[in-house]
Parts: sequence; C-alpha cells; structure tokens
Amino acid sequence: MSGPVPVLRVRRAGKVHPGGVVALDDVSLDVHEGELLAIVGPSGSGKSTLLTIMGTLDLPTSGGVEIGGQDAGSLGDRRLSALRGRHLGFVFQQFHLTDGLSAAENVATGLLYAGVPHRRRRPLALEALDRVGLSHRAGHLPHQLSGGERQRVAIARALVNGPSLVLADEPTGSLDTANGRAVLDLLVRLNAEGTTIAIVTHDRDLAARAPRRVEILDGRVVADVRAGSAA
Ligand code: ADP
Ligand code: MG
Repeated sequence: MSGPVPVLRVRRAGKVHPGGVVALDDVSLDVHEGELLAIVGPSGSGKSTLLTIMGTLDLPTSGGVEIGGQDAGSLGDRRLSALRGRHLGFVFQQFHLTDGLSAAENVATGLLYAGVPHRRRRPLALEALDRVGLSHRAGHLPHQLSGGERQRVAIARALVNGPSLVLADEPTGSLDTANGRAVLDLLVRLNAEGTTIAIVTHDRDLAARAPRRVEILDGRVVADVRAGSAA
C-alpha cells in the first residue's frame, strides 16, 4: 500500500492564534514530487497560515508536518532551519529582497542555510538567475529592477538550493496583469522542468491551469481536485 514518500506531509494540522482565532482546523495534505498545486480560497480562509506551517516557519498547535519523511516538530531550531534550507524555497507577495545587495547576491542568500561552501554560492546564484531569464540583471540592485524582475529574482533565490518544494504565497499579488502572467508562466515552466511547487493564489486562471487545486474555507480543506479526475 505504501507509495513513494511525499515531499511534504501535513498531518491533521490545526492552528489556533492567540485570542482563539482558529486559522486551520484539522488539515491533512500530501505533496508529491513533481506536483504543481494551487491553494485557493477567500481572504482570511487560512491559506497563508497553511503555507507558513508547510514551510515550518510556524508550528501548528496540533498535528504535524513531515518533510522528506522527517517530523519537523521533533527538531530543534538549528536542525529545523537546516531542513528548511535543504528542502524548501519560499516566494512571497512582497519579494523580500535586500536593498543593498545585487540580484546575484540576493539569490545567493538562498544558500545561507543550505550548507553550500562560500565559493560555490555565486556560480549557483548565476545559474538560478539564468533559469528565470535574468542573467543580464545579475549586478542590478533591487531598486533598479521592475516589480516583475524583482519577483523573478525572489524565485531564483527560492530555486538556488535545488529545493524539493517551492512554496509561494500570492506571488503575483503585487504585480500588474502582464508581470503577474509572466511570473505564473515562469512557475508553470519550472514545474514542467521538474520543480515541485505549491502556490497560494487568488488567480482564477492559474487555479484553473494547475494540475491540482486545493480549496480552503474557514481553515478546512473543502476540495482537493486533480485535473482529469472526477471532481
Ligand atoms: P488567508 O491567507 O487565506 O487570507 P490567513 O491564513 O492569513 O488567511 O488567516 C486566517 C485567519 O487567521 C484569519 O482570520 C486571520 O485574521 C487569522 N490570523 C492570521 N494570522 C494571525 C495572527 N498572527 N494572529 C491572530 N490571528 C491571525
Ligand atoms: Mg494570505
């Protein structure tokens, strides 16, 4: 019965915020290698909370998360950040680039917790920038880049450690339509090239294109549909 080990497994996770807000309620979700899944739902439904817990940036108040078969809740801070650095890449709506660093240097920060020797960081950063079509911007500072370019730098930073899973929270939320489209096309292409990706999105078009769609409402998974399967 046992299939391949999921890249990431959320096991009956709950999250109650201080003040008693139930942001996640008994959510279970397996992500397998090669998947592209869209996590959709109205504002306040718990999508970011779920992504944060999948990314082990916060621990659930009940249940757990396993990455590559390893229970995140059993690890101390150092080992957890090493697990994250080895397995996960993050993309956020607001890019979160460091102002004084070039595009290549920003991308290289994605290797800080991946145990990559210093001299290997720049070549890997340039390779990742190439994958997102930004080789010609390697020396530019964030303020010299357009919003779409900044997000592509952030995506390169998420890819640079060869993660088993990229987690993206509303990656097009700060972009105009054309740049948003380019970023989504890029994520779809990276998935076709083998990267496993989970995207929280309001974008109906992406949700429709994604091979798997997970719908969240009031902190619960209310649908988990794979394209081509009966809904
Ligand atoms: P979404 O990303 O789908 O908009 P969130 O995961 O951000 O939803 O939030 C889910 C619920 O949890 C909302 O009701 C939100 O107000 C609440 N919430 C999120 N973060 C916190 C927090 N740090 N403290 C208290 N409540 C929070
Ligand atoms: Mg959110």
